[in-house]
Amino acid sequence: MERDTETVHEAYAFVCLHCGHGWEEEYEIRHTTDLAGHRRADYFARGVRVPSPLTRNDCPSCNLGPIRILRPGRVNSARTYLA
Ligand SMILES: [Zn+2]
Repeated sequence: MERDTETVHEAYAFVCLHCGHGWEEEYEIRHTTDLAGHRRADYFARGVRVPSPLTRNDCPSCNLGPIRILRPGRVNSARTYLA
């Protein structure tokens, strides 16, 4: 009945390639190993479970996208690049 849980915090930066909107979001990522030995990762943002940011493709500004994921702190340079 032992579960191996590892929690990490990671911030992702996103930029919308459609409208240029850039934002950052911090995630709590819980890595667990279930009883069958399968690894899984659950993502939480502000205490709410959310889909993996790696599969995110909707923009909160224009609802279109596509979204590119950047490391934190690179949003501004990406916007400059898009302009
Ligand atoms: Zn957008």
